[in-house]
Amino acid sequence: MNSVRYIKDIMTSSLIQASIDKTFDDVLKLMYQHQVSSVVIVEDKHPIGICSYLDVINAISNHKSKQDIKLSEIINKNITTIYQDESIYDAYQKLIQSGQRHLVVLDANNHIAGILTGSDLFKHIEFNEQLKFKTIFDLSPDAILIINPNDLSIVNFNSKAINQLGFSSSELLTLKISDLDPITTPFYTNDGVAELEKFGHTIFESKQRVKNGSFIDVQVFLNTITYNEEKLIIAFYKDITQEKLYESKLTKITNYDSLTGLASQYLFKSYLKHILLKRNMNDRFVGVLKIDIDDFGNINNSLGHDIGDEVLQLVSTKIYTFLRQEDLIGRFESDLLSRFGGDEFGVIIEDLKHKEDLIIIASRIISNFNKLIVLQNGFELYLSISIGISVVPYGSATVEEVIDFADIALRNTKAVQKGGFMFYDDTLSKIAKEKLETEMKLRQVVENNELQVYYQPQVEIKTGKIKGVEALVRWINKDGVIISPASFIPMAEDVGCIFKIGRWVLCEACKTAKTWFDDGCDFILSVNLSMQQILHDDIIESIKEILESAKFPAEKLELEITESSMMADPARVIYTLYKIKSLGVKLAIDDFGTGYSSLAYLKKFPIDTLKIDKSFIDDLPNDKDSIAIVKTILAMAKALGYKTIAEGVENAEQLDFLRLLECDLYQGYLKSQPINKHDFKKLIREESV
Ligand code: C2E
Ligand code: MG
Ligand code: MG
Repeated sequence: MNSVRYIKDIMTSSLIQASIDKTFDDVLKLMYQHQVSSVVIVEDKHPIGICSYLDVINAISNHKSKQDIKLSEIINKNITTIYQDESIYDAYQKLIQSGQRHLVVLDANNHIAGILTGSDLFKHIEFNEQLKFKTIFDLSPDAILIINPNDLSIVNFNSKAINQLGFSSSELLTLKISDLDPITTPFYTNDGVAELEKFGHTIFESKQRVKNGSFIDVQVFLNTITYNEEKLIIAFYKDITQEKLYESKLTKITNYDSLTGLASQYLFKSYLKHILLKRNMNDRFVGVLKIDIDDFGNINNSLGHDIGDEVLQLVSTKIYTFLRQEDLIGRFESDLLSRFGGDEFGVIIEDLKHKEDLIIIASRIISNFNKLIVLQNGFELYLSISIGISVVPYGSATVEEVIDFADIALRNTKAVQKGGFMFYDDTLSKIAKEKLETEMKLRQVVENNELQVYYQPQVEIKTGKIKGVEALVRWINKDGVIISPASFIPMAEDVGCIFKIGRWVLCEACKTAKTWFDDGCDFILSVNLSMQQILHDDIIESIKEILESAKFPAEKLELEITESSMMADPARVIYTLYKIKSLGVKLAIDDFGTGYSSLAYLKKFPIDTLKIDKSFIDDLPNDKDSIAIVKTILAMAKALGYKTIAEGVENAEQLDFLRLLECDLYQGYLKSQPINKHDFKKLIREESV
């Protein structure tokens, strides 16, 4: 037998300790950070218990919230101590007698020196010692196989091996250890043996195939031994399936919020830290939104925690709806002031070109709240949220700063206007406020009679006669300021009032043009339709109704749809366009050339007129590319039988060139800017259309 070996020589498991006055969460983080399966809990530097994975998982499954878990109630207080200069045989006896998996090792001053696990112990008992202590061999919590290094056949094993692998003694003796390798990683044994030859011992994690074909996670420790002058391999297979399971559960618990499935505050912050350090993101910004449910305390108090939980889940889904996949959303844990689970959420928006883009994102999220929502039990609840926003250039602030800024902004929002949002940066808050006010006014624009339709003539190039007119909407607000449709139409699409506005424009233009027709004029009235109008269920009915009530001849109406909106959902658009055509109305593609539609594809749309985008007309007749494009579009339109209109013609050279290319009509400042109905009436009277 070799000389006596001492505990201090063989301790390998890292010692992590925490004071008993730490929170459960602190211990959880320690385990996760150091990847250890147990933490020694101390009081005044003396060990009073051990907190293991198992205790953690049990505690979490028995409690609703991590905050409710008291460390002192979940730890295992039955600890067995041993001094580091005792022998490993003493340790073995104490371990067997106590029935524990760990011993806490103390130094001469009674301070903790480490933790000794059963596996540490058994791996360091020499083979000849083991034969003397056959009991150890059989009582080992790990499966032990003795292997012939030449053919890797199993020559001996302990009872745990039979237990763990499911094979009988006689079966085991016919196997090689490579037979126990998982199929997915067949080289594990070979690699392990090669390393063993190089270093004399090796330790690695793998999977082990058991008799029923399933796999268990194992930690494998290989060592060489000499017995009766024969070289053998001793292999310890520690079953770590449970630990792996706990580990993955722990990762989940630490990184994800169990109620909503969102990122935990821990993951949120780590991710933000990683993002803020990104390089080569010049001129781009990172935004953090901190979102808080208004009066969540009342909901929890008056309706109970179950409803509170449902509200939190609902809010997380509603926030999620308006985000891109790459945006990260997390749930913040409650601070000490809040008696309830965290009702704060955080969103990280990356790679922003303009800080102002966050205004749109925040308004979209808010638009899903500030209204009654229906809970599962049919209960209706008014739900509002407040948002605080911070936005910084990459690499310019720490995680704590960015979150603090958002926090300050959130508190300001709560103080000034619950149910809204504010930026940490004052100027952005001002822009956002103005935008919100404009949106509010836009919703009432029809009722407040603030819209007007302007008219711009379309002139036949061959004859110089007005053959058409495009109706273009204007918003003239209370102060008499004219707001361009280019800015408010997209906003109207965003806030969902474009259908109302579009309907008003069509109705007004038809009624007005009908009075001109009644005076003997004859031309086509063009009105723009937005994408959302085309996709609206009532669009056909609405056009029909307007034509009937204005007694407007359908064949004198042309509806313009931009090329890009046609391409957004072609199948649906084609279907609707055919229905519109069946009313007798004509159709035009607006801004043609900007939407990348293929010419062959065009044939599928029931189109009468093609309007060439102003950008191609601008540089005529000097720019070679523009000439080539306009020539091609005109040739193609002619071949497909479309009427052609050039948009934005501002000078005589452009017009002369278009005449040469046989374009049918033009529209532009050369003839007239869009003008109100009275001026337009004057114009057509002068020209006697
Ligand atoms: P659009 O349909 O392509 O209208 C042509 C735009 O070009 C008009 O701008 C018109 O004023 C402008 N324009 C015409 N000739 C010239 C020119 O010679 N030079 C220059 N620089 N510009 C010219 P406007 O009125 O600001 O309208 C902008 C866009 O807003 C329209 O583009 C249209 O897409 C949209 N829009 C206007 N009214 C409505 C509407 O009632 N409903 C919908 N859905 N969209 C509308
Ligand atoms: Mg148009
Ligand atoms: Mg256009």
